[in-house]
Amino acid sequence: MGGYVPGEQPRGKKLLKLNTNENPYRASDHVYEAIRKVMEAGLSRYPNPFGESFREAAAKLYGVEPDWILCGNGSDDILTILTRTFVGSGELLRLAHPSYILYRSLAELQGACSEEVYFNRDWTLPEYFWNPVDPKSPYHLSNPQSTKLKLVFLPNPNSPTGTMIPPSDLEKYAEKLPCPLLIDEAYADFAGTNCIDLVKRNPKFMVSRTMSKSYALAGLRFGFLIAQPQIVEQLIKVKDSYNCDSMAIAAATAAIEDQEWLKQTTAKILSTRRRLADRMRALGFEVPESSANFTWNVHPDANRVSHKAIADYLKENGYLVRYMNYQGWGDGLRISVGTDEQTDRCLDLVEEYIRKL
Ligand SMILES: *Cc1c(COP(=O)(O)O)cnc(C)c1O
Repeated sequence: MGGYVPGEQPRGKKLLKLNTNENPYRASDHVYEAIRKVMEAGLSRYPNPFGESFREAAAKLYGVEPDWILCGNGSDDILTILTRTFVGSGELLRLAHPSYILYRSLAELQGACSEEVYFNRDWTLPEYFWNPVDPKSPYHLSNPQSTKLKLVFLPNPNSPTGTMIPPSDLEKYAEKLPCPLLIDEAYADFAGTNCIDLVKRNPKFMVSRTMSKSYALAGLRFGFLIAQPQIVEQLIKVKDSYNCDSMAIAAATAAIEDQEWLKQTTAKILSTRRRLADRMRALGFEVPESSANFTWNVHPDANRVSHKAIADYLKENGYLVRYMNYQGWGDGLRISVGTDEQTDRCLDLVEEYIRKL
């Protein structure tokens, strides 16, 4: 199999990263203080196997009990645990496409099959996405014999577009689905709404979150799931015994307890996102309305403007953005929101490139 290829993490070279949706701001001071305390106490003991301190803090924030929270070594770990729990070999995982490429690799690793259902051109989902598998599916089934649909992954807001399906619509859509649905809310803190209320009243819904983006802790590795307790109880059997280390648990707990930090940095990011989208549109790009900390930028004049060439030009000038080319769909540039200054400089370079054409 061709494994998942993460966005470039340059070593040594001084490149400004707007390619993997990291947060341009430094995490809350409380996080660094919490890590220092763990170091002083020492690392000779195993961590709490369930990350109880984090579960309590997250439960309080979202109005559930701690047994509704499952901690993971990044939300990628949560996605792995879910795939291993729900999708047996030969069974089917349904994905939306284009979206997070990792989903397909997770199915492959499990010996499971995947079905990629294409978004409509306006980034809504076709009716088919919400129905049992049709063996004559017009979408890509990795194995046409596999029709046992066991799990659906839907990032909302989606990557690479930042577009969102209103949570109020999802419950009705999901009625006919014969299996649970994971809403990957990696970017929900940048959106106005989320699906946590759906999880509370409907066991078909689960929500995953990450500390990597909105809390500026991609280097730490911590994510979590919110699901009904009878599901979490089963997932715990599948996870590694100590999947989160002491420093990550303490740091993530401190981060989620500092909602004031989140509010302030998120407000800055949303204001820069507006600037980024407006200016890319002024340069002729089509930019769907983003509810995340990045925008998806497609230039309609493909004969004149090459997305790949722009990405290369930006890189030569010290800025990394994500060039994506989706099979059967097309290509474009995903640009993460930096500080105002970083974003402006990156946009100046895009403008410089376009003017030279
Ligand atoms: C970044 C991202 C994740 C991964 O988050 P980690 O917690 O860093 O593993 C999951 N889903 C989507 C859609 C993402 O963009």
